[in-house]
Amino acid sequence: MQSLWNDQEAATFGTDLLGQRVYTSRLLGRNPALVLHGGGNTSVKVTEKDYFGDCVELCHVKGSGWDLATIERAGFSPVRMEALIKMSKLATMSDEDMVLQQRAAMTNPNAPAASIEAILHAILPFKFVDHSHANAISALTCAKDGEARAKELFGKRVLVLPYVMPGFVLAKQVFEVLQKIDLRKEGIEGIVLLKHGLFTFADDAKASYEKHIELVTIAEEYLAKKGTKPAQAEASEDLMALAKLRRAVSKARGYAQIARLNASPNAVGYANIANVADFGTRGPLTPDHSIRTKRAPAFIGEDIDASVQKFADDYAAYFNRHAKGQTMLDPAPRFAIWPGNGIVSFGDTLKDAKIVADIAESTAATVQLGESTGGWTPLDEKDIFEIEYWDLEQAKLRKGPARKVHLGKVALVTGCAAGIGFAIAESLAEQGAQVVGLDIDKEIPEIMKKIGATGIVVNLTEDKPVQDAIDFTVREFGGIDIVVSNAGIFPKNDNLDVMAQTDWDRTISINLTSHQKLMNKVIPFVKQGLDASIIFVGSRNFKAPGPGASAYSCSKAALTQLCRVAALELAPHKIRVNIVHPDAVFDTKLWTPEALEKSAARYGMTVDEYKTKNLMKVEIKSKDIGNMVSAMASPLFAKVTGAQIPVDGGNDRVI
Ligand SMILES: [Zn+2]
Repeated sequence: MQSLWNDQEAATFGTDLLGQRVYTSRLLGRNPALVLHGGGNTSVKVTEKDYFGDCVELCHVKGSGWDLATIERAGFSPVRMEALIKMSKLATMSDEDMVLQQRAAMTNPNAPAASIEAILHAILPFKFVDHSHANAISALTCAKDGEARAKELFGKRVLVLPYVMPGFVLAKQVFEVLQKIDLRKEGIEGIVLLKHGLFTFADDAKASYEKHIELVTIAEEYLAKKGTKPAQAEASEDLMALAKLRRAVSKARGYAQIARLNASPNAVGYANIANVADFGTRGPLTPDHSIRTKRAPAFIGEDIDASVQKFADDYAAYFNRHAKGQTMLDPAPRFAIWPGNGIVSFGDTLKDAKIVADIAESTAATVQLGESTGGWTPLDEKDIFEIEYWDLEQAKLRKGPARKVHLGKVALVTGCAAGIGFAIAESLAEQGAQVVGLDIDKEIPEIMKKIGATGIVVNLTEDKPVQDAIDFTVREFGGIDIVVSNAGIFPKNDNLDVMAQTDWDRTISINLTSHQKLMNKVIPFVKQGLDASIIFVGSRNFKAPGPGASAYSCSKAALTQLCRVAALELAPHKIRVNIVHPDAVFDTKLWTPEALEKSAARYGMTVDEYKTKNLMKVEIKSKDIGNMVSAMASPLFAKVTGAQIPVDGGNDRVI
């Protein structure tokens, strides 16, 4: 492992102690083999003048909710040293009191809550303290005889301490040790916490950071000699099985989940190791990970549903073995080892699933190394339970905002580069759906990016590109729950006796046949969807046709019939199929100001009168259709299928 220290870069963070602390914290955060997603913590002790001009000794310790990779000065909580030292001398302290007293001791009450390791940082008698959950330290200390290995490897340079619960108990453990050992006198450079991580310290930012790198490198070199290289294999893709796995896990979780398949050679190689079901489910690298990943992943055998059920049963049994009055969390795995396929991670959002995927990737590599270095022997499940069901962690989970209605759902929307289709994609994304938008417009990837969605350029009348887009969606997100079949054109108006055959054929091909083709390919996946729903976008024109629009009217009438048949076919699968009939939506590309004026003139109306030419005298906007479709895909419409919903302000020819 290389030190990433760079003098020039360091200078850009300021020469003061806190500036240097920000810089080396980021250096730790930059290396995923040291910390991942909010893991680890750092501190610096400074003497500052307070508001009144009095000197005060502070420990700036990483604030909760900040990530070392991106931390800023504002990410550190300034806690009075005096208070932290006093706390370290108490015989016991509840987590709740510790958090409260740490906050009370902050010179800036608006700073983030100080790390739960603040007391430990304070009592280490050096200006800079760096703490990581380095993979190599986990592989070394979770291997069999880890304590002896660590002691032998680091000798007198490092203090090796047995695992205890992080927070006050850990601070107390170190406090007791410091009563007997003078770290400076003994020349001790770091503390290895077995099955947890590494602390290093020094009075200089660079020295503390580089000691960290040096000690981790020693462990890495040892493991490179003792352990085996990561196994590698090629995946055999089975997207339908992936959709089934996502469905089973989502059901266990109680909510739709995004699933991310890691089918890299390393992930598949790991999943294919003969006894991975045994050692791969023994426990995590460091207790911190269990908050995001649970104690262990699921192992997926031939029968996917049975494998997920087994995980849920085992989880309930684990809970019952250790619970003392807590409420059980959901029994769904956060990631799964899947022979032949790789490693699959789950989360409410793509971001959540990716965080778990990163931890799972580190876990696979490290567990493999630990297993080949004498046997993977992670923390006891009792210790993991204490972390997973820790009051402080439970409080964090409870704090979350209300759940968006489509969170964890995957939606496929066609024809969404502009107008109604775009508004639909936007409304679904606003309500938490992971949207994939298909359009023939070359700009669709950029357009979808604006709403956090994925855009794919597809000619919906062609078979292979449509199949590829569906496969892509399942491969990236795990399945498809919502399909909005919207693509359509409005050809030029000609009466039957003069219309061009090509206009008719093209209209039917896009407005009708492309929808039928999409259904043909997407329904097998929708059958594995969660609370699945298909919505067609029709037109008022179906019930109130106009002269010169035969192709358009017929295509929308047939599309409505397609919707009704789909509703009949899919009802036994609990899949809802409905159609929305918009009318007179003028905020689309189709309607230029000139076209609007021309049409209004034809009726002898002003543009404003023309726009609100309906019973309620209201203007219908794209967003009205978008919000209606989002509602139709939501549980509000849980028991509605085969319905035709007009969004037109009321039309006397239809009513
Ligand atoms: Zn830690």
